[in-house]
Amino acid sequence: MDYQAIIDKVFEQIAPLRGVGKQADYIPALAEVNPDRCGIAMRTLNGSYYSTGDATVRFSLQSISKVFALAMAMHLEGDNLWTRMGKEPSGAAFNSLIQLELEHGIPRNPFINAGAIVLSDILVEHLPSPENRFIEFVRSLAKCPTINYNYGVALSEKKQAYLNTAIANLLKYHGNIRGDIDRVLQFYFLVCSIEMSCAELSQAFLPFADHQQRFDYDGVTLTSSHVKRMNAIMQTCGFYDEAGEFSFLVGLPGKSGVGGGIAALYPGRYAVAVWSPRLNPKGNSVVGMKALELLTTFTAESIF
Ligand code: GLN
Repeated sequence: MDYQAIIDKVFEQIAPLRGVGKQADYIPALAEVNPDRCGIAMRTLNGSYYSTGDATVRFSLQSISKVFALAMAMHLEGDNLWTRMGKEPSGAAFNSLIQLELEHGIPRNPFINAGAIVLSDILVEHLPSPENRFIEFVRSLAKCPTINYNYGVALSEKKQAYLNTAIANLLKYHGNIRGDIDRVLQFYFLVCSIEMSCAELSQAFLPFADHQQRFDYDGVTLTSSHVKRMNAIMQTCGFYDEAGEFSFLVGLPGKSGVGGGIAALYPGRYAVAVWSPRLNPKGNSVVGMKALELLTTFTAESIF
């Protein structure tokens, strides 16, 4: 399969969509990013790499980082994790409060904000120095020691964090946050602020495409059935209330973030990352969704 030619063709065909949508602006620092950036990178398990556009420019991962937080929480908690959150698609916005209230402080899944705030609580509780431990794990996944938090973006999010603070308070009220709310949110915003390029993100997702291989990165170990489950959750919950649409159009497990990135993978074959900051009303990258739809159409490869 000539993946480079296919990616080049995808890049050409998404051109008309590049002005559609709008950057996230509820995190003021994200509104300052050039919205016309666009990159694609793909990495296969047999070591090939393909890319186009702004594939080496770093961007804010935002919710994509929740995949790494879930991996670490699964390592620390095993199946106990599922006493504190569900594994069902939410069918609601990523920052919905209503569902959390109706469901008594048990988030529907780990990828909505409420779920990821509980993941953050778990990491803060277990790890003596969660910020250091977490970034080391992410660096080892991406095989890149310079990956880091963007403290300015985390601070910018914190200053406007009315909704996430409300979510954290509701979780705390129901006993589903054990630590101090400010401490847990501080860690959560830092996790969201991690920056990578598409090139780095495709590397960081590759381990999740590899069920057969033992997952052991910087001491974080997962069984192949954990990796399988992570893929299942990405497939059913990775795009919030657009998870069905992404499955329908693309047919790969993946995860989006309001920085405009999407990472997806084809189990046993490759991981791919796309970045374009303009979002649709559900908070997913317009170009990112289309690019991956075209990729699985042109390659005729998907999990379905
Ligand atoms: N940091 C963002 C938030 O909590 C992440 C949301 C996202 O990427 N969907 O709102």
